[in-house]
Amino acid sequence: MIYLDHAATTPISDAAREAMEPFLGERFGNASEPHALGRAARAALEQARRTVAERTGCEPRQVIFTSGGTEADNQAVFGLAGDEPGRIVVSAVEHPAVREPALQLERRGFAVAWAPVDGNGLLDVEAFRDLVRPGDRLAAVMWANNVTGVIQPISGVAAICADAAVPLHVDAVQAAPSLPLAFAAAGTATMALSAHKLHGPKGVGCLLARDPSAIPPLIFGGGQEAGRRSGTENVAGAVGFAAALAEAPPADDPRRALRDRLEAGLPDGFAVVSADADRLPGHSLLLVAGLRAELLVLALDRAGFAVAAGSACESEDQEPSHVLTAQGLNAAEARSVIRVSLGSGSTSAEVDGFLAALAAAFADLRTGALA
Ligand code: PLP
Repeated sequence: MIYLDHAATTPISDAAREAMEPFLGERFGNASEPHALGRAARAALEQARRTVAERTGCEPRQVIFTSGGTEADNQAVFGLAGDEPGRIVVSAVEHPAVREPALQLERRGFAVAWAPVDGNGLLDVEAFRDLVRPGDRLAAVMWANNVTGVIQPISGVAAICADAAVPLHVDAVQAAPSLPLAFAAAGTATMALSAHKLHGPKGVGCLLARDPSAIPPLIFGGGQEAGRRSGTENVAGAVGFAAALAEAPPADDPRRALRDRLEAGLPDGFAVVSADADRLPGHSLLLVAGLRAELLVLALDRAGFAVAAGSACESEDQEPSHVLTAQGLNAAEARSVIRVSLGSGSTSAEVDGFLAALAAAFADLRTGALA
């Protein structure tokens, strides 16, 4: 199977697996216990925190380990919003891990202003500037989109929020594997990361918080993570996350050239969504008008290639992706996209093989559709 679905998840790296192994075996202690096994676990957890902090440009005390990106996003949105209804500004293309908490707040009486994007899926910065008002509880704009790969102008967004003194939450789950992270310099209040998107284990991530004491916990219990996230610490997960994060993306990312090769070789009938926007280097969303994406994904699967229809989190939905309708695709078009996401190990032979399989699957399906 040729795996071209790295935006959904990535294979764990050797470094992450090896770093985790002792903590799945003989170093199994509970990091909150004072005995030697507990202390060893605590030391490893705090070393992982320092590594994450160093790699993301923040202080160790600003790292709250969570069960992944979804929990980090939820904690930021609910935490920054507070309990009493107020107003929040959220981009129209957020991942469900941000969008659903925002909709939940709306049901609790909050006003949600949805910030629009243009036809390429780029945030309309002037509209965003007009929407953000002093007193808003938070603004949320993702760094890079999981469906289209579009990279948002986060430093400009952060400046607008700083002018209005509105805390900004940035979902950096998709950006982290490809873009250099600098939390403090980015000027955001909070940022969410997930290990399994960057060759770490599933079920672990973190929320970076400029002022962790301003972010209330989502999960209450024994007061771990300095009271910000209760629950026995996932030491192996944090260690694997840190090891994966320590392997920096190459400065000259080879995925970009491969992606360009893929897009240049597409069969007639395919268009690239968000082609004119700055996108993640390995990410390509292909629109094939008049064909249900699932059929193509299944045909490619039979040919030995793993790609996604839309995005993994929405593949089972019957609804067309809100990300794509927000940038002007109609419902039929939004159901006719496949997402190809290359990894650091992807090769030009794989891309060429994929293009041949795509052309063959498309020809078969089109003949079937017309028969
Ligand atoms: N945010 C974005 C942009 C994502 O792509 C994902 C995963 O698909 C998440 C959040 C959720 O992260 P996790 O799978 O760690 O819960």
